[in-house]
Amino acid sequence: MTTSLGDMFQVTSDKPGLIVDLGNDLSLVTPLNMYAVTKVINFCYGHRLLNYRGKCRFLHGHNGRVEIELSSERLDQRGMVRDFGEIKQVVQTWIDRALDHKMLLCRKDPVLPLLRKFDEPLFVMEANPTAEAIAQLIFEYTASQGFPVTAVRLWETDSSVATYRGAAMRAGRRSARASRGASRRRRSAPRSSSTAA
Ligand SMILES: [Zn+2]
Repeated sequence: MTTSLGDMFQVTSDKPGLIVDLGNDLSLVTPLNMYAVTKVINFCYGHRLLNYRGKCRFLHGHNGRVEIELSSERLDQRGMVRDFGEIKQVVQTWIDRALDHKMLLCRKDPVLPLLRKFDEPLFVMEANPTAEAIAQLIFEYTASQGFPVTAVRLWETDSSVATYRGAAMRAGRRSARASRGASRRRRSAPRSSSTAA
């Protein structure tokens, strides 16, 4: 049985260039003509997974590679989605400070008290620190800083990558809200996580 494109997508008549995905009712509206830039940041992290039977249930580390994709339908006056230097300045600075060479652990992890006792560098997360959750964490931080982020891909190894995506229009609205608030306050990291030294 085959499914045609027409069965899965409806082309809207009032907004040329937009398609609505009807296949899984995500209400995801994706502009067809978009610019995108991707910044790559490397960092090292340790973690272990709870409720998991594989070897990742033990404390271990990764040389992580994160790809941060920003998208926009329009370019700014410089002809850019966003300057790579700005992404580096904001996001890489945060990753270097908050995540690099830290143990990323779930707040429910029973090893936390011991590691705190020995003053190990930690980043405590609400979620199980899977590659998917770390990608979401970096996505939410990037969005909170006003960047029109549409995807974050975290390469945990050379052959394993997890992606967290957000709709471009949601990112754009979030970006606009963030820009309005930029002069009033300094935005903070995602609420779903917290740091602990
Ligand atoms: Zn791992």
